[in-house]
Amino acid sequence: MIRKTMNYRDGKQGFQRITGKGDLMGICATLNRKYLCCSVHVLRSVHNCPFDCSYCFLQDYLNDGMTKVVCDSEGLMKVVKEKTAQQPWRLFRIGTWELGDSLALEHDTGQAESLVNGFGGLRNAVLELKTKSDCVDTLLRLDHRGKTVVSWSLNTDVIISTEEHGTSALHERLHGIYKAAQADYLIGLHFDPLILHKGWEEGYTRLVRQVFESVNPDRVAWISMGSLRFHPGMKKKIENNYPDSRITGAEMVLGDDMKVRYVKPLRTMMYSLLYGELKKYVREGVLIYLCMERWDVWNRIFGLFPRSIGHVDYLFARSLKERFGLGPDIPDSALYEKIHQQDSGEPLP
Ligand code: SF4
Repeated sequence: MIRKTMNYRDGKQGFQRITGKGDLMGICATLNRKYLCCSVHVLRSVHNCPFDCSYCFLQDYLNDGMTKVVCDSEGLMKVVKEKTAQQPWRLFRIGTWELGDSLALEHDTGQAESLVNGFGGLRNAVLELKTKSDCVDTLLRLDHRGKTVVSWSLNTDVIISTEEHGTSALHERLHGIYKAAQADYLIGLHFDPLILHKGWEEGYTRLVRQVFESVNPDRVAWISMGSLRFHPGMKKKIENNYPDSRITGAEMVLGDDMKVRYVKPLRTMMYSLLYGELKKYVREGVLIYLCMERWDVWNRIFGLFPRSIGHVDYLFARSLKERFGLGPDIPDSALYEKIHQQDSGEPLP
């Protein structure tokens, strides 16, 4: 019997297996056309998460807090095959982390294992499993055929221990990265959310060094940077749910996507520091991008910005084709830009 709980924290104690219903595949829920979005697709395969990050948007989002995992992997793959077959020229990036962590429950569910096997047979899609865990052991012997990117959300030891409750420690995540790379998986790195804290400059500098002591940058498919952001209504919830957290104390401003962020000079300072550190390790061609940022912030950090959301999607496809041979044909930027204009029905800025 399917139970319900309104309290997302009570719902973290166990999980239910469910069969997938409704719209199982869509675009990442953060999409907002005033910001540059990477337009990754998401497979709604998990719902809530056993981890307990203070900044997690799920505390403000879930109507039913029960943790649920779609156990019908064949059904999920059927949806993926149908959707990707409609645009055979396009490379789809598809993540399973929209409403939870891709691997936190893998030991008990085997969901990711089934999806890795399923994506291995697809020509125009890559699976992204994103995690704050080190649960990769069951994936290491799979025949993934280079079609899965195992990604980590990374932060400093200080932030992990004070804000990311229940997640794997940094050294455990780094060991997970090492093992996944040794098993020939491509690796994704998400430095997100960057959070101001005492010693953040040294902390993020050290973090980048530690990451590239664990993985050869040539195995890294993409790298994102994002800063702390949340709906203003979450501030009170964070303060109630996590009274020891300090993340709501900083000066933040409301953006067009109705989320508060650090003021622009602060965000720019954090991205600049991190990007400067990343460039010491990665070559030209490794896609480094900002998650949900404005055109002018891209310009300040990278000295350029994509023309549109479709152009960002194209840059992913081009990078993955050139570096790893992934995807169908040589990607055509006009096709990517056109499909996004059609999807939005709006003129692009
Ligand atoms: S790992 Fe992600 S989904 Fe899980 S609690 Fe943390 S922010 Fe939320």
